[in-house]
Amino acid sequence: MYLKNSKIIVIKIGSSLLVDNNKKIRKKWLSSFAKDIQKLKDKNQKIVIVSSGAIALGCKKMNFNKKSIKLDKSQAIASIGQIELMNLFSETFTKYKLNISQILLTLEDTEERRRSLNAKRTFENLFDLGFVPIVNENDTIATSEIKYGDNDRLASRVAQITNADTLILLSDVDGLYTKNPKIFKDAKLIKKVDDLKKDLKEINIKGINEYGSGGMQTKIEAAKICLLAGCSMIIANGLYTNPISRIIDKNYCTWFSSKVSKLDARKKWIISSVAPKGAIIIDDGAKKALRSGKSLLAAGIKKITGKFNKGDHIKILDKKNTECARGLSSFTSEEIIKIMGHHSNEIEKLLGYVTKSEVIHKDDMVEL
Ligand code: GLU
Repeated sequence: MYLKNSKIIVIKIGSSLLVDNNKKIRKKWLSSFAKDIQKLKDKNQKIVIVSSGAIALGCKKMNFNKKSIKLDKSQAIASIGQIELMNLFSETFTKYKLNISQILLTLEDTEERRRSLNAKRTFENLFDLGFVPIVNENDTIATSEIKYGDNDRLASRVAQITNADTLILLSDVDGLYTKNPKIFKDAKLIKKVDDLKKDLKEINIKGINEYGSGGMQTKIEAAKICLLAGCSMIIANGLYTNPISRIIDKNYCTWFSSKVSKLDARKKWIISSVAPKGAIIIDDGAKKALRSGKSLLAAGIKKITGKFNKGDHIKILDKKNTECARGLSSFTSEEIIKIMGHHSNEIEKLLGYVTKSEVIHKDDMVEL
């Protein structure tokens, strides 16, 4: 998978790329980054940015020292800094005619199925509208026990949720080295990691963990999540201007290539549910539609069993009660009872509010 073939790309930028050691904002860099994003967007690639910097910019505004602030105070600082961060993006990205939106996530939003499914839909709708979502952890409410704490792993979860092809972690080092490059002159950049387990045995992660703002450990954790999700990952040095074009032109970075196809990863996740919460019995017309890769609509549903919520795993049975597919429901069982047998454009009237039109979206379904 090369960057130019990636339809969805998640890019994570660390605070040190936005604010330098003298607490100066790296405006020129951000402009060059926006220009890179514009180029990708021109090629119809969908982009999500995961950006740190709320605390760094909050500290800058308040003239506080980042190292000396405690958690509850850092939450307030993040609240002050997040708006600074978005203003900075907005100011810069507008110049390149890029529309941005903000998504603040907590750990539960990505770990809980129903919430992650909701987040996925929001990302998809923003892509449809042509916007570039900018994500950060919701530091203002995340406490230490329920916190990612590092945006590397958050970014990998975002890559998984959005079904991204590639995650780029822009760091302040060129990539993963055989040893800590700041100490050992003979440290070599590892350009490609094919087998994470095997390749990592040959390097001492502990020894190289001090370099890079989030450390190498969280980046390796992020790689594990991505690779299982069928998403490739890059660690590259983001300190240079036009950091994305640089990856494309020079390819001086570390690539972790996923061997799992995205479809397989999703299928595994959907099929691996040990306890589907209910079943939907469909008519022959709907069965035929599923066979040709279409979503399940309310009109083709004859009966349901079980009580379930949005996002729960559901079996899909034909009228002979043979399981023909499995998927994640976009509606609760109560809602389906009200809408089954009806045309999709009647759903809003029947439920009294606006919802999706597919009961199980094709992306959330695996035919058996
Ligand atoms: N969410 C934090 C912030 O915006 C940064 C976390 C990280 O650097 O990984 O300040």
